[in-house]
Amino acid sequence: MSEQQLKLKDGQQYIYYKCACRASDNEELVCRLLKSRDSENGLEYYVQFMDCNSRVDDWYLASSIKPLSDEERISRDEQIRTFVDKPVEVRSINRLHFGGFVMDVWYYVPLTEELQHDDVYCCEFCLNFINNKRGYERHLQKCTVREPPGTEIYRDDKIIFYEIDGQTQKRYCRNISYVARMFLQHKTLEIDVDIFNFYVMYAKLGDSYRLVGYFSKEKPLMMPSANILSCILTLPCYQSQGFGSILIDMSYMLASRDNLIGSPEKPLSDLGYMAFSRYWKHRIFEYLTEHDTNSISIADIVKYTNFTALDIQQTMRQENCLFPRKSGDFVFYVKDEQMSKFIESAERQEKKAWRIQDKYLHYFPCSLLGREYKGDLDRLVVWVKQLGY
Ligand SMILES: [Zn+2]
Repeated sequence: MSEQQLKLKDGQQYIYYKCACRASDNEELVCRLLKSRDSENGLEYYVQFMDCNSRVDDWYLASSIKPLSDEERISRDEQIRTFVDKPVEVRSINRLHFGGFVMDVWYYVPLTEELQHDDVYCCEFCLNFINNKRGYERHLQKCTVREPPGTEIYRDDKIIFYEIDGQTQKRYCRNISYVARMFLQHKTLEIDVDIFNFYVMYAKLGDSYRLVGYFSKEKPLMMPSANILSCILTLPCYQSQGFGSILIDMSYMLASRDNLIGSPEKPLSDLGYMAFSRYWKHRIFEYLTEHDTNSISIADIVKYTNFTALDIQQTMRQENCLFPRKSGDFVFYVKDEQMSKFIESAERQEKKAWRIQDKYLHYFPCSLLGREYKGDLDRLVVWVKQLGY
């Protein structure tokens, strides 16, 4: 874009452009330019693509960017003008060094000015951030922390969970929220951590336990909520190994102890939605294989899983197993081949799938607010129940 090689002032943006997107096989996609800078190779712009997740936004040389033709502009004028749902954010931290891994950061994180570097280092034990390699190495030699500042609530052969109170451990909980914000765009940052508990998961990998992910959950006494969790993260270096499913499993196990029928806080990220959909499907089909009867109701599955009726309906609809009837209710119909397919894939995944075992969980609900599902779909009742603890 030779004639357009202009530097952008703060807050200024160019909107009618297209750029060969590296994440889409260099296909030219509509974008806007949010910032400019001089690099060794020439002028670069920070490009935000209109129809892509913001994790593909990046710096591009001016030579790979072109203005849209008049026709392209007119056909998408309104969309381009609004750039619906896209915050004007330029990612300034590009890599997170954590526990021997280097992870590409996906989204802008509002850390302090002194930490806004290309490379940021985070101690996997105390979660302190450091902006340079030498300082990080010095910190690792001195840091004596080896476990999170909370209570161990679960331990089996492979997994440990700690419960950490956001009110008493503000710094740790804010820092883990900053790490999450690097990889989750839609969540507002949980700076006000007081009202949350944080459930941090360590997994045994080789000879040591490593922090692989966490979820946060509103404290029920402060704000009774049907959210089984608020924010969930598996660190990208540990994704696709079944850890997301263990985090979700724990969140439902806690819901079960709290006598809560619930769902994750919305909106879910795209990856979060995929993980929950897989988990919901797996547990529902598991119920169906264990209860071989012709009269299963959604209420039965709610009781077994602690999922909401709505999540069950949506999952079964996606699997083409839920059909509306004239009377206004629904009927399940699961074909034999769907069940056989599930059993096959469940057997294949058995080694990988790890489930939280109730006998190892030392967690006591701190709320007397209980919710229970009774009767059919039209009669979802919620009441305050004295728990037997
Ligand atoms: Zn440390």
